[in-house]
Amino acid sequence: MPNHIFGRSTKGTLPTAVKGDGCYLIDSSGKRYLDGSGGAAVSCLGHSDAKVRTALHDQLDRVAFAHTGFFTSDPAEALADRLIAEAPEGIDRVYLVSGGSEAVEAALKLARQYFLETGQPSRHRVIARRQSYHGNTLGALATGGNEWRRAQFRPLLVETTHIAPCYEYRDRAEGETQEAYGQRAAEELEAEIRRLGPETVMAFVAEPVVGATAGAVPAVPGYLRRIREICDRHGILLILDEVMCGMGRTGHLFACLEDGVAPDMITIAKGLGAGYQPIGALLCTGAIYEAIKAGSGFFQHGHTYMGHAMAAAAANAVLSRILDDGLLPRVREQGAKLDAALRDRFGQHPHVGDIRGRGLFRGVELVADRETKTPFDPARKLNAKIKAEAFAEGLICYPMGGTIDGQRGDHVLLAPPFIIEDAQ
Ligand code: PLP
Repeated sequence: MPNHIFGRSTKGTLPTAVKGDGCYLIDSSGKRYLDGSGGAAVSCLGHSDAKVRTALHDQLDRVAFAHTGFFTSDPAEALADRLIAEAPEGIDRVYLVSGGSEAVEAALKLARQYFLETGQPSRHRVIARRQSYHGNTLGALATGGNEWRRAQFRPLLVETTHIAPCYEYRDRAEGETQEAYGQRAAEELEAEIRRLGPETVMAFVAEPVVGATAGAVPAVPGYLRRIREICDRHGILLILDEVMCGMGRTGHLFACLEDGVAPDMITIAKGLGAGYQPIGALLCTGAIYEAIKAGSGFFQHGHTYMGHAMAAAAANAVLSRILDDGLLPRVREQGAKLDAALRDRFGQHPHVGDIRGRGLFRGVELVADRETKTPFDPARKLNAKIKAEAFAEGLICYPMGGTIDGQRGDHVLLAPPFIIEDAQ
């Protein structure tokens, strides 16, 4: 059979997905896979949601695409309004794109343009965190702290500096309170800003709950509030990347709402289209928008498929499912059950170091030695083996090897659809 597709790996072949059925994907041999990670925290409604399918059919009957250089569209306007109604305080504008990396690129460029247009041209530096992932396009890749993904492209990446993530399991000292640890971790940002010179720094970028690179690691209480204070003190924009943890995944439409923190920009994607359409968004404060409006009046950016009517129609239906059909409380409830089940089953396992997360966003960290927290040898490629064995058993989960200050650590990420049943 001819095979000309060029995908993620040039090795081996993959089964062909032919049908979705709620929390399951079905391949061409008829094998069913329980989607325990929603792909990569994408399929928050499962795979055959009736409301989204109807919305897509209806939109297709009206208009599929009208270039945003000429037109806006009803679904894009409705989506922006609904997102803003639910967003943290001060967030007032929405820029629609096609995915997470695009949302992060837009955030970086908007930050730079904001400072140019407000007379602070020296601000161009970005501070982010180690063990983070913000996308694979060059700006987003430069921002992320996943060394494995960055290493070979380093000459192409703009300079970004990275501080430690807020990673309680690894970094909270014996006897230190969560509060004290959160303050200490946040102080790294203060020190890095001072080292670089505050007048050169434009933004700090972080995932409120670290996803793929650390395995559902939430910040300890108070950390993000301290980060917000530090950014404010130095006039630096706080960009929260909720591409993976947003859109209800943690039991709140925006993860940062639980931390009581309002950033200057939020990026979302994945669960926004829930896999039914590729869509992402950058949300920003009215202050940023007004500065551009009062200045050049033009955000020097744009993609052909931004604001795509079909994608926006799908996202509206997804939002309606999440908000109108009571899925947020369900995520909190099912998430607590999943957490309890993981602890019950694996809490005492000699190779499970930590079980953490929020809502239906859970991570299990695997260690060679539970007492010393020593990671497994990366050469064992544990994550690839877990992925393959789970897949063979008909379970889709998301194991990854993260980087812990130079050493790799393994974890398994679980992010099932919000409709997941107890037995599943
Ligand atoms: N930001 C975060 C936090 C992510 O988890 C991802 C993808 O995993 C991205 C950005 C990039 O999104 P995309 O793959 O849609 O470009």
